[in-house]
Amino acid sequence: MKPLSQMVKSDLSKIKMVVFDVDGVLVPRGTKIKQIGNTTTLNTKVIASKQIEQIKELNKKGLLINISSGRGLYMLQEMFREILPFVSLTYENGSATWYQGKIHQHINSFQSFHKIYPLLKKVSEKNPDVKGFEPKEFIITIHCKARIKVIEDIVSKDPKLTTVWNGEAYDILIKGKQTKALGIRNIAKIFKLKKENIMTIGDNYNDQEMLNESGMPISADKTRVDGNFYIPLEGKFLPADNLMQKILKLKK
Ligand SMILES: [Mg+2]
Repeated sequence: MKPLSQMVKSDLSKIKMVVFDVDGVLVPRGTKIKQIGNTTTLNTKVIASKQIEQIKELNKKGLLINISSGRGLYMLQEMFREILPFVSLTYENGSATWYQGKIHQHINSFQSFHKIYPLLKKVSEKNPDVKGFEPKEFIITIHCKARIKVIEDIVSKDPKLTTVWNGEAYDILIKGKQTKALGIRNIAKIFKLKKENIMTIGDNYNDQEMLNESGMPISADKTRVDGNFYIPLEGKFLPADNLMQKILKLKK
């Protein structure tokens, strides 16, 4: 892995699309969630206007922009409202993509989660370490103060499912299938792109499959994911900010 500072113009010659993870890349890490009884409060992070302007600039340079997140569509639409005319939103870990008002569904997880959901709900109800279930359509996301063994145990009883713990929440997913890579493969089809045309940037364990599916993976946290280049974690700019500054400079 090379530091981003070593990226040169020829590294961008085949790139037609840039795919951004959201948390820890375009906004600081951490979603605030609070659940009291049946009331869930989510604190939506906003994308800084600087990043919105940078994305607009990338688009003007002829690059397609995809946002790939574990978050739900409603949140991403809210966060990217201003640039929705030209970005595609791949949500819930590659489960579906919204583009210009049309939803492309990449997986059907209904049968996989139908039985397990009430079991997880039940063990979470009185557990003080559970902060809340994030509203999702295709995956299950449970925010917790710390890892919770009983949740992991319930999921491990179904060999087709897996838990991904990211330090603040569990994503419960269909093993090997419901990953951001599924999103990338479908995005490539929708936009008629090859692997080599896609640059991806992500910072967390759930990004590795997506990074592996692209010709130019960028790691925003080299302690968690591998890429061709990495962006140093320290410094005053967000990883996406650093990357966009670099691309815009090289494309001048
Ligand atoms: Mg992230």
